[in-house]
Amino acid sequence: MRALITGGAGFIGSHLADALLAAGHSVIAIDNLSTGSRGNVEHLLEQPHFQLVVDTVLNEARISPLVSQADVIFHLAAAVGVKWIIDHPLLSIRTNVRATEVVLEQASRDKTKVLLASTSEVYGKNNAGPLREDSDSIIGPTAVTRWLYANTKATDEFLAYAYHRERALPVVIARFFNTVGPRQTGRYGMVVPRFVRQALRNEPITIYGDGRQSRCFTAVGDAVRALIRLSETPEAVGEVFNIGSEQEITILDLARKILALTGSASPLQFIPYEQAYDRGFEDMRRRVPDVSKLRETIGYAPHTSLEENLQRIIQHMRAADPALRAHPPPAGTRLVKTEHASYTTEPVPPGTRLRVSGEHPPRGWIDDRIFPTPAVPAPGATQAETSADSSAAPARGYPPPAPGD
Ligand code: UDP
Repeated sequence: MRALITGGAGFIGSHLADALLAAGHSVIAIDNLSTGSRGNVEHLLEQPHFQLVVDTVLNEARISPLVSQADVIFHLAAAVGVKWIIDHPLLSIRTNVRATEVVLEQASRDKTKVLLASTSEVYGKNNAGPLREDSDSIIGPTAVTRWLYANTKATDEFLAYAYHRERALPVVIARFFNTVGPRQTGRYGMVVPRFVRQALRNEPITIYGDGRQSRCFTAVGDAVRALIRLSETPEAVGEVFNIGSEQEITILDLARKILALTGSASPLQFIPYEQAYDRGFEDMRRRVPDVSKLRETIGYAPHTSLEENLQRIIQHMRAADPALRAHPPPAGTRLVKTEHASYTTEPVPPGTRLRVSGEHPPRGWIDDRIFPTPAVPAPGATQAETSADSSAAPARGYPPPAPGD
């Protein structure tokens, strides 16, 4: 089978290319390398059944012959990441809406099957969980840029349905829920690579809000396996599917888990949303998928737990940059802030209760006096009432690496 992957040098696209090639298919990846990178597919460039075309999907003359050659199209090219979208609204609309129409229009010539990558963002601020594919989408006002992500991806879905109904185009829509894994970059705001990188550098872990918002993080290998199975399943055509994990975790617990797994001495830093994103920003409090439709249609069962996935991400980041190594404070000590906004270690007085996660030996930890744990929100409390003050939290200044590190 010849597959065309738009966004094929992106995080998910490159893993999809790996999996398709491993299964004996041939792959053409088109990517403008805006948020994707050549490095993601470097290991594939010498393979005879892989080709990378560096261009935008909006270049119709370039994409037209690629579509003609393909047996199936995985349309993954999109503006991704809430932060990136807030920073580039116009380009995001063009990329998400116009590019999708180009792909669907061209695919409809030969009725080539299209797998459209969508996102759990389309549910907007529907906090009810677990979310089924037919759950309502609750979107905020157009004046708030963050909602254009949900709106543009929802428009993509409408377009896919319209091409399916009016042009008999075989389409399958896949809504990804927080897909994470090796090669994902934190540059566009995604929480897991950001936390892992911060932990490996002993920098503050930047928790937005009170950290009690929750997500379900899906291993990229599981997401890609589901996507390929959907592409091979005739009953999936004309349908939308959630692709996600059911393992829910708060962002605060995610931070603790990453600290434990890396052995990092990073302090937790609580940052108010308006500082992290934009005025009027609203985060999803909870986002949990109902994956029963996926399970019933393709027998989906995830292979990789969050813990295993985090281990792989940590390993990958360490291997990619050996400078990224955690330097935890010695056993029996904790980090304390000095007046110059840097840190030093001090012995822990006997009987001190260190704030450590359950599964990690108490090697050393940040002093609670500097980074207070946020109060549990009272029912009906506003974000402003529950956010911890981050003004005292420094951005720089960590213990120097131990000699020989
Ligand atoms: N987040 C955070 N610190 C960061 C980046 C993200 O606390 O440095 C939070 C973010 O506000 C959200 C969650 O982590 O509540 C997941 O963010 P991400 O951008 O990875 O995915 P989203 O679910 O928002 O699409």
